[in-house]
Amino acid sequence: MKNLYNKLSNIVIVGGGSAGWMTATHLSNQHPQLKITLVESPNHPTVGVGESTIGGISNWLELQGLNDLPFLSETDGTLKLSIRFEDFYRKGAGGFHYPFGKIVVGGQDNLNNNSWFSKQNLHPNTPVSDFADCYYSQMAMVNTNTISETFPNFNYKRDKALHFDATKFGEWLKNNVCIPNGVKHVLKEVKHVIQDKDGYIDHLILDDKEKIKADLFIDCTGFKSLLLGETLKEPFIDFSPILPNNKAWATKIPYKNKEKEICSYTNCTAIDNGWVWKIPLWSRWGAGYVYSDKYVSDEDALDEFKKYLSSKGHTDHDNYEFKKIAMRVGRHKRVWVKNVLAIGLSAGFIEPLESNGLYSVHEFLNCFSSQMEARFPYVTSVDRENVNYGCCNLFDAFTKFVTLHYALSARDDTEYWRDIQRRDWMNVDPLPDDNGTNYWKSLWKQYWVSGFWVNDAGLNCIGAGMHWHPWGLTRQKIGSGIGDSNFYKEEMEQVTKRLNTRKKIWDFQAQGLSSTHDFLKDKFYIGDKNDSLLSKAL
Ligand code: FAD
Repeated sequence: MKNLYNKLSNIVIVGGGSAGWMTATHLSNQHPQLKITLVESPNHPTVGVGESTIGGISNWLELQGLNDLPFLSETDGTLKLSIRFEDFYRKGAGGFHYPFGKIVVGGQDNLNNNSWFSKQNLHPNTPVSDFADCYYSQMAMVNTNTISETFPNFNYKRDKALHFDATKFGEWLKNNVCIPNGVKHVLKEVKHVIQDKDGYIDHLILDDKEKIKADLFIDCTGFKSLLLGETLKEPFIDFSPILPNNKAWATKIPYKNKEKEICSYTNCTAIDNGWVWKIPLWSRWGAGYVYSDKYVSDEDALDEFKKYLSSKGHTDHDNYEFKKIAMRVGRHKRVWVKNVLAIGLSAGFIEPLESNGLYSVHEFLNCFSSQMEARFPYVTSVDRENVNYGCCNLFDAFTKFVTLHYALSARDDTEYWRDIQRRDWMNVDPLPDDNGTNYWKSLWKQYWVSGFWVNDAGLNCIGAGMHWHPWGLTRQKIGSGIGDSNFYKEEMEQVTKRLNTRKKIWDFQAQGLSSTHDFLKDKFYIGDKNDSLLSKAL
């Protein structure tokens, strides 16, 4: 019988994509007593996408001592202050932002999460994009395409994320952190996985017949999930009933006028059978169409994508290379089974909306370290189950947040969107739920019981952007004391004035700041010859 009280001292990571190298970075920095080997196949390419991150990356980078972003200029990186969503509510409805950081409430403005809805009650034609403009100072920078490290109510360190080339990021971590930290890099393919009589992995056999043993094997083999899925046969929970997108076409688009085009947000536009991402890297755009092949063939999806690109001025798309990617949508029931822990696509993936791939990588690593430190380097089954509980809950919570972007849509212009409209959101939830209710029920409950727009930036921004108005006139009248018409009118006027005043101040403060391009150039790309040559050519 396997010894259930295991000491972790020898770790083998299989896979050299961004998940593999982020894992090696994290473990070699946080637990330097571990002996770490990373085995990477020279024959299997990495997934080759993953260019947009979200807020948590800053904390993780700080933990690794990388918060001054020394890798940015070597990974084609730019700064990200927000995500923009276009046409998710209705075709042609336009866009709204979900910026990073905290909604600015309280203080001398005495505003709360409901205030903007009072403004909209008074001025029903206020566009939904105004919500983020009124609550986040950095929207003044996003709207003027500028960046400053010292903008009021904006914490440069915390309230941003990054765009970069994830494959280059992995390479950078390998050369600048992992190898210097003593991680052994083996560039060989795992050909056979040998289990012992209890089902634990005993050793791996590489393509040159070398045998590799470890206390813990970390599966970073991407969608293949060689150790957790293929070998240990851990069941996979399919999330396609709630998130049907399972394919993507990805491409790279050259800038026409880089200095003007480069911006500080990821753009996501809903189209006929899914949505298109557009990410500003330093040397080019990254773009892709995420769709469901249940509704459109791969060829027709490519045509739709090209049509979209033409509509945005990229009429030279015949010169671009397009790569088709199949996505495995869902997660394994457990991410740590016996002596195998999965991190990255091997553990699970939903779809790239809200840039959750790399997020799950660094959050799983944080969860692993936090749980393990209880008696590190020893583990029992309780420690494993704690990691499973933490990681799976985190993954499911994020999945539910992503479903919100579809559930609140009112699009009915194609069968894809009509099917989303037909979905019974109260009963469709296949995800395990702790408190016995599903997400939608608890969402409505939170809102109706509290009678207040809950303090959750994601829910607030996406809800408002999707025209989901929790503080209508009736509710406002009731909240202000029934019958006291002057009071609620006064409240609407006062709140509107305060929101407009501070928005004007932020807009004023954003004038004259460095453009996004110049800020990046001065801070990260000084002496970039390609950039100056390009600028001169234009
Ligand atoms: P991979 O990159 O696939 O790496 C797998 C590794 O395993 C490779 O090195 C391969 O050689 C190795 N391997 C496989 N088999 C063997 C073997 N037998 N022996 C040895 N080695 C082996 N995430 C974001 O955060 N933001 C985004 O904007 C984003 N966009 C995405 C868009 C799409 C269409 C997709 C599909 C994903 C996106 N992601 C995004 C997710 C992101 O790309 C991944 O989370 C991230 O790149 C980590 O991938 P990985 O390292 O798990 O897998």
